[in-house]
Amino acid sequence: MHTSEPDALDSIREEVRKLCARFPGEYWRRLDQVRGYPTEFVTALTEAGYLSVLIPEEYGGSGLGLSAAAAILETIQEEGCNGAACHAQMYIMGTILRHGSTRQKELYLPKIASGELRLQAFGVTEPTSGTDTTSLKTTAVRDGDHYVVNGQKVWTSRSEHSDLMLLLARTTPKDEVKRKTEGLSTFIVDMREAVGRGLTIRPIRTMMNHNSCEIFFDDLRVPAENLLGEEGRGFRYILDGMNAERLLIAAECVGDAKWFTRKSVEYAKNRVVFGRPIGQNQGVQFPIARAYAQMRAAELMVREGCRRFEAGETPGEEANMAKMLAAEASWAAGEACIQTHGGFGFAEEYDVERKFRETRLYQVAPISTNLILSYVAEHVLGLPRSY
Ligand SMILES: Cc1cc2nc3c(=O)[nH]c(=O)nc-3n(C[C@H](O)[C@H](O)[C@H](O)COP(=O)(O)OP(=O)(O)OC[C@H]3O[C@@H](n4cnc5c(N)ncnc54)[C@H](O)[C@@H]3O)c2cc1C
Repeated sequence: MHTSEPDALDSIREEVRKLCARFPGEYWRRLDQVRGYPTEFVTALTEAGYLSVLIPEEYGGSGLGLSAAAAILETIQEEGCNGAACHAQMYIMGTILRHGSTRQKELYLPKIASGELRLQAFGVTEPTSGTDTTSLKTTAVRDGDHYVVNGQKVWTSRSEHSDLMLLLARTTPKDEVKRKTEGLSTFIVDMREAVGRGLTIRPIRTMMNHNSCEIFFDDLRVPAENLLGEEGRGFRYILDGMNAERLLIAAECVGDAKWFTRKSVEYAKNRVVFGRPIGQNQGVQFPIARAYAQMRAAELMVREGCRRFEAGETPGEEANMAKMLAAEASWAAGEACIQTHGGFGFAEEYDVERKFRETRLYQVAPISTNLILSYVAEHVLGLPRSY
């Protein structure tokens, strides 16, 4: 199956493929059953330098562009592995890189690049405010050389496997700011020190193995020097990182779609019913072919978004559309794959049902499809603002 143009990233893809071959389906199945964390896989990616490709060379990373990161995550998914365990280690550090002080960059980035520190917890979503981020209720109140944090986050993935968390909290009450996007601030929380001293982590069991958690802040004291950038401008800093995040998640969905399609084609060619391969029936072929076409379109949009990002532009339109199209393509490919496998699609040993559960997330997180459509309607097409 030819799904990508040959490009300069082929050698990276090839190396990632070799690494992933050490972590076959049974590895992921075993973890899935106990909702375990793929420590060996994450360590292997870290040691190979894949999680620090976006960190500039001066801080110990390889200083590659977003398309290299996208190629890595896409390949991980295409090989049946799950990058969700660590993808955020690639891009959360972007907030430190763009908005941190020289001291913060020198303190954190080299250790994140080497894997000594994991920064892969991102505390934005809250149970009450949900997608309406500027209504979040977690507060950080200045007290001498600390901020005192109170509130709650939900779906803070990988918290139990991260040393640091990037936290968004309100530092000025909403009714005291001109615009609701003002008065929010970003902090680096050192969770190694915070757990048991005002920070509690509770895992949430979900339909797929995602290591997501609830977080409770109860008078947690965070040193004021851990504020990133200027107080009150944190929402803008978080938005700055979203295009990269959406393009990378989209690349993962493209990888998932490729995995599903490969499995569908292999199975449809070999499964013989009524004396012929099921793949000879157009009723079996067409959903696979349609999902493939959707994947290719999404793949081109990911590439265009990465190209614009690397050219220093702001590809909000492409990043949002790529994320939506890719998540829909991976779902279509997953649906076709389950259907093609008939009953065996539901058997754990085929990995189809696991990947099916895993890829469903991306129509909801990190941003749901409705909110992307709303972005396109308002910001691209100029339709009236709806919320
Ligand atoms: C497994 C998992 C991992 C996650 N990891 C993280 C993480 O690491 N860090 C983090 O901060 N968050 C994380 N999230 C949270 C995720 O980003 C949110 O779940 C997502 O943004 C949707 O927010 P919500 O769940 O509050 O839904 P809600 O905001 O309650 O929305 C519910 C539904 O209503 C729709 N809706 C809401 N408002 C509108 C509107 N105005 N117009 C049309 N439709 C609307 C939405 O599209 C959605 O379908 C994760 C979520 C999951 C499930």
